[in-house]
Amino acid sequence: MNPHWNIDTKLVHAGERGEVLPGIPTVHPISMSNTYIAPLATMDAILGGAPGYTYGRHHNPSVDALAEAVRELEEGEVAFAYASGMAAVHASLMALSLRPGDRVLLSRDLYGASLNLVEQLFAPMGIDAIEEDLTDLDRVNQVFIRYRPRLVLFELISNPLLRLVDGPALTQMAHQHQARVIIDNTFTTPLMAKPLSYGADFVVHSATKYLGGHGDAIGGILVTRREHQDRLYSQQKLMGTILGPFEAWLIHRGLKTLGLRFPRQCQNASQLALRLHQSGRFKQVHYPGLTHHPEYRQAQTVFPQGLLGAVVTLDLPGDKAMVFKFLEALQLVVPATTVGDIYTLALYPLIASHRSQSAEARQAMGISDGTVRIAVGIESVEDIAADILAAAAWS
Ligand SMILES: *Cc1c(COP(=O)(O)O)cnc(C)c1O
Repeated sequence: MNPHWNIDTKLVHAGERGEVLPGIPTVHPISMSNTYIAPLATMDAILGGAPGYTYGRHHNPSVDALAEAVRELEEGEVAFAYASGMAAVHASLMALSLRPGDRVLLSRDLYGASLNLVEQLFAPMGIDAIEEDLTDLDRVNQVFIRYRPRLVLFELISNPLLRLVDGPALTQMAHQHQARVIIDNTFTTPLMAKPLSYGADFVVHSATKYLGGHGDAIGGILVTRREHQDRLYSQQKLMGTILGPFEAWLIHRGLKTLGLRFPRQCQNASQLALRLHQSGRFKQVHYPGLTHHPEYRQAQTVFPQGLLGAVVTLDLPGDKAMVFKFLEALQLVVPATTVGDIYTLALYPLIASHRSQSAEARQAMGISDGTVRIAVGIESVEDIAADILAAAAWS
């Protein structure tokens, strides 16, 4: 720094852009800079597409580090990190150059905001959403023949009733009908499924959930093949949807313990489901590991690692008044509208995820006024079960 500069100038430039000393940090640093300097020839090359950093809406080292980590876990060729899971879902739809008159096939019990995204943003542009139950593949085949959708978007475990979709079979079927496949792997994580490995075209994540895992950051990731890279990159730059560096760093830190957190959460969920079912206090307990679940057998072959997700859904034998009383009586379980945190969360679909659906639509999906979704955390399952049973004081 020039020692003759005035203090106001020194304050602005002091300590920046100094010599980089040897020693590579074992943890990727948070890189908050929104712009970068380089020799002009290098900057020229980077702006022309060479690897490197110029401006934070294009690339950021902390964001790249997270995207690269998830790319490796999902065994994809390229990955992008977005400001939210919804931005990642949106990017996957935008990557396919949909045109007026195109149809898209959506799982009827897709994440509510994903349904709303297509209904509210794409339908006015002439893109029709077809919403179907994707668990019955014979029927789905008829839908492909009849409507010729350009793509199918679904989750492997649906929300909140935890129905299973056969990802490999549906992917193959979609490709036979020249449709692209987008799988939202949020609830399953790469520990349960790697859809790119069986041919899915795009995998999206709300990294807000299990990948980040600690309830302190919102983010989304999209992983795909190289053929989509240029289009996704230019759209991300133009729409300005890149994830922030601090969030990227938090999610990357969370990701390191996914292998400890998620299996524990799945085991907790499995034990909790069994106990709550055996208690006889609920009209129905939904979990793919319970023998009465409609895809119980399929679950064992589709998810051979023995992890069946960390969500358990309960049907209380009553309506809104009973559910409110139940939620208010919980001491440990937190009533909040998300999944994937380290603590156990309860969500009431009627007032949250499914409040914009009509009563008939909810009923058609199997969601009643007594349905409550429990996203199981890493606490002791004894304590979680005791809390829920104490709040289930109606019998
Ligand atoms: C939460 C969620 C999203 C949306 O993610 P945000 O990070 O909240 O934007 C998309 N899909 C699924 C399955 C989700 O659970």
